[in-house]
Amino acid sequence: MIKTLTAALALLCSSALFGASGNLEIYWIDAEGGAATLIVSPTGESLLVDTANRRPDNRDANRIMAAAKMAGLEKIDYLLTTHYHGDHIGAMPALAEMIPIEHYLDHGVSIEIDRPRVATAYAEYEALSQGKRTILAPGHKIPLAGVDITVVQSAARSITTPLPGAGQPNPTCASFVRQPDDHDPDNDHSVGFVLRFGEFDFLDLGDLTQNYEQNLVCPNNLIGKIDLYQTTHHGLDRSNSPQILAAIQPAVIVMNNGARKGGPAAVFETFRATSGLEDIWQGHLATRTPKEINTDEKMIANLGETEGCEGHLLKVEVTAAGKYTVTNLRNNFSKSYQAD
Ligand SMILES: [Zn+2]
Repeated sequence: MIKTLTAALALLCSSALFGASGNLEIYWIDAEGGAATLIVSPTGESLLVDTANRRPDNRDANRIMAAAKMAGLEKIDYLLTTHYHGDHIGAMPALAEMIPIEHYLDHGVSIEIDRPRVATAYAEYEALSQGKRTILAPGHKIPLAGVDITVVQSAARSITTPLPGAGQPNPTCASFVRQPDDHDPDNDHSVGFVLRFGEFDFLDLGDLTQNYEQNLVCPNNLIGKIDLYQTTHHGLDRSNSPQILAAIQPAVIVMNNGARKGGPAAVFETFRATSGLEDIWQGHLATRTPKEINTDEKMIANLGETEGCEGHLLKVEVTAAGKYTVTNLRNNFSKSYQAD
C-alpha cells in the first residue's frame, strides 16, 4: 500500500505535471561566456541545450540546477549538446550526478577527437549517454511535448528545403565575403534548431560560424523570420553575419556572452542595422566594448567581471497567444513583445 502511494505521488510530482504552466519558458543560465539554455515546454517537459563549463567548484552545474529548481523540474527530459567544446559540455558529468537526464541528443562523433581534451570529454559523454542517445540530422524533430522543434543544422550539414513559410531570396548574399576556415572545426558541426510555439519562434545555432550560416540563408532564406534569436557563438563576430541577421530579422536578441567574450562593437552594429529589431538583452556587460555600445544596463543580467559574478539569469515566458515577456532576474526589469 505504501509502495503504491509512493509510486502515485512520484507520478504526480513528475516534471511533466509539476512544471506545467501552459506557457513556454526559456532560461539563459549565466556561465560566464559558456552556453546553457534551459527550455521548459508548456506541458512541463524540459530541453537543456548545452552544459557550460567544468569547474572544480561545480559553479556551472550548480547554476543549471538552480535554474532547474526554479522551473520546478525533477529531471531533464532532453539534453542537447550542440558540440563538444568545453564551454558547452563541461558541467555535464557533475550535472548528471545531480539530476536524472533521460535522453541525450548530439551531432555524432566529434571532428576534433584527435585533441586529447576533446577525446576525454567525448569518452565521458559516450559513457553517460549509453542507451539514451540520438544523433540528430537536419530535418529531424526534437520531440519536446507542446512545441515544434526542427533541427536545421548538424554535423556541418544544413536543411536543403525551407521551413514552412520560408524560402525567399536573400538580397544581401552577394556582399558576403567567405571567411578563413575556423580553427576549431567542431563549431561548424554544431546542432542548430528552430523552436516554434504558436506564432513564436526561437533560433539557436550553437557556435556555427559565418561560412556555415550562409548555407541556411543564401541564396534563399531557408529559416524565415524569427522572433527571438540567441546570438550564435556567444555574440562573437566569427558568427552573426549581416546575411543571417538580414534573413531572420529578429525582434529580440539575447546574447549569451561573457564579460570578455562576445559582444564586439561590430556585432552590435550588425544587430542594430537589422530591420524590425526591438531590443538586445545581454547575459553580461561586454567590458571590452564601450558602455554606450552595450545595451541599456537594465537589460543586462550581470554587470561585474567574471570572478565574483553572481550569475543572474535572463528568462522569457511565452503565452500560447504569442505574447512573450523577457525578464532580467537581477533587477526584475521585464518587457513584453508580440510574436508575428
Ligand atoms: Zn562556445
